[in-house]
Amino acid sequence: MRREGLALVISAPSGTGKSTLVARLRNEFPDFGFSVSCTTRKPRENEVDGRDYVFLSREEFERLRTLNHFAEWAEVHGNFYGTPLAPVERMLRGGQDVIFDIDVQGAGQIKLTLPKSIFVFILPPSLEELERRLRKRGQDDEASIKRRLVNARREMTGSEWYNALVVNDNLDDAYDALRAVYLTGTLAPFRNPDLVERILGGHPWRN
Ligand code: ADP
Ligand code: 5GP
Repeated sequence: MRREGLALVISAPSGTGKSTLVARLRNEFPDFGFSVSCTTRKPRENEVDGRDYVFLSREEFERLRTLNHFAEWAEVHGNFYGTPLAPVERMLRGGQDVIFDIDVQGAGQIKLTLPKSIFVFILPPSLEELERRLRKRGQDDEASIKRRLVNARREMTGSEWYNALVVNDNLDDAYDALRAVYLTGTLAPFRNPDLVERILGGHPWRN
């Protein structure tokens, strides 16, 4: 039996390095499906519509929300973000593992709808370092940086129910921890329902 895909839900305060870590994971495991979210935020310079996000107006987002288009949605830093349900269901049913890059509120909703998901929260080593990274990225104006720092504290205090906390201090160490959590998840017996049977079935002394 083909195993059901694993949903790997990754959250982190903005600027922690989540996109960097997710890009590495997708590079090492190119078969990963990625849940492309919809957002009402304006695209950043290097972002491509349909690849990084589907960029929508608030009206269009709200219309889709009323049509139950989203597996979860949340307002984050003053913008709407949501995960389209249909592509995620298709990928998981087809046995493809899927990465969700979503905030704590959205992750809480996925915990209810897809409870077998693996939830990883990436932490910055400190709030000072988080601020440095936000500034270094140079993608957000001053007000947006302030808002992200205020939200970071709240997001981190809501992370106790995740399966794993990974501190992104040294990038290589954080990546090793993230991939270990993912690989451990894929080895769960319920994700490999006929593995033992297949091994025993091929044995000549099977009883
Ligand atoms: P996020 O997706 O969490 O908002 P990014 O991946 O965009 O964060 O990273 C924010 C900034 O921090 C980027 O400039 C990135 O290169 C840098 N960064 C990521 N991980 C580390 C790390 N371990 N040490 C130092 N800088 C990092
Ligand atoms: P950014 O604007 O920096 O790309 O993302 C801001 C925050 O929104 C991040 O914490 C990111 O994980 C979260 N986010 C991105 N897409 C979604 C989504 O579809 N749903 C939810 N709930 N959060 C999302």
